[in-house]
Amino acid sequence: MAAQQTDNRIKIAVQKSGRLTEHSLDLLARCGLTYSRGRDQLICYGENMPVDVLLVRDDDIPGLVQEDICDLGIVGGNVIEEVRLGLVERGETELFAKVSTLDYGHCRLSFGLPDGTPYESPRSLQGQRIATSYPNIVRDFLRRSGVDASVVEFSGAVEIAPSLGRADVICDLVSSGATLRAHHLYEAETILESQAALIQTPKAVPSVKADWIRRLLQRVQGVIQVKESKYIMLHAPRSALQKIRALLPGAEAPTIMPLEGRDDKVALHAVCRENVFWETLEQLKEAGASSMLVLPVEKMLD
Ligand code: ATP
Ligand code: ZN
Repeated sequence: MAAQQTDNRIKIAVQKSGRLTEHSLDLLARCGLTYSRGRDQLICYGENMPVDVLLVRDDDIPGLVQEDICDLGIVGGNVIEEVRLGLVERGETELFAKVSTLDYGHCRLSFGLPDGTPYESPRSLQGQRIATSYPNIVRDFLRRSGVDASVVEFSGAVEIAPSLGRADVICDLVSSGATLRAHHLYEAETILESQAALIQTPKAVPSVKADWIRRLLQRVQGVIQVKESKYIMLHAPRSALQKIRALLPGAEAPTIMPLEGRDDKVALHAVCRENVFWETLEQLKEAGASSMLVLPVEKMLD
C-alpha cells in the first residue's frame, strides 16, 4: 500500500542551486504547492498536492525524466537540446517532451571570438578549435553549416579557453554579454535561443497521477498568462467604442455596462492578455476614454 502511494506521487525535477532554482520554486509555489524540505535537502515533499520536488543538477534533469525517475522537469532549452542531440547520436529514443516554455532563464548560445578576429559566416570557423560545454549542439550546427572544425569539451569556465591557448573560439551561453567582454571576446553568432521549459515523460501514468499532472500543467499555464495580463476598466463614449476596443492589447469580448444617468457613455471592463503600457493609455485617452484603471491579475483559469 505504501509503495503504491509513493508511486502515485508526481516527481518533478528542479535545479538544486543555480540560475533557475528561485524562479522554478516560485512557479511551483504560484501553482499553489506548499512543501517541506527533507532533511537531506534533496527532496521537497508536497504538503497539499501529491507532488514532490527533486533538487538536482540541471544537466541531470532530462535524464531523470528519460529514465522515468521523474514525471516532469524544469530545465533550460539549451540543456534539453544538448541531451536530445546526444540521444539522437546514440540512436536512442527521446523520452521527454517539452510541454511549455516558462518565460524565464532567457539566454542564447553564441560563438565568442577574441576581439579583432574577423567573423563573416560559419565558414570563418573552418579549421578552428571551439571550446564549449555544448558539444552536441555545436557539432550539429557545424555539420549543418558544412564546416569542419574541432570541438573541445569544457565543463565550465569556457571563456578562459582562448587565453589558455586551449581553443581559438568559444561557444557559450550569453545573456548580457558582460562575461564575454570581460575576457576580450565578442559575440559573433547565436546558434540557439533558450529559456526555461517544462518537460514531461510521454509514458502513460496511473489515472490519479495523470489527473494531477493535468491540473498542475493547467495551473502553470495560468501563472504564465497572468504575468502579462492586466484587467482594465474605463469609461468610453458609445460613439468611440469600436475604436477603443481595437486599441486594447490582446483583449477578448469586453464587458460593457451602462453608466447611471448617462446615455452617451458606458463603462468597459476587459482582460488584456498583454501588458498595457502608458502609450496605450494615451491612445485610449485620445480616442475618448476616461477614468482608466489598470489592475494586475492574481490568478487566471480558462
Ligand atoms: P548546475 O550546478 O545545476 O549544473 P550550471 O552551472 O550548469 O548549474 P547555471 O549557471 O545555474 O547552471 O545555469 C542554469 C541555466 O540557466 C542554464 O542552463 C541556462 O538555461 C540558464 N541561463 C540563463 N542565463 C544564463 C547565463 N547568462 N549563463 C548561463 N546560463 C544561463
Ligand atoms: Zn549544469
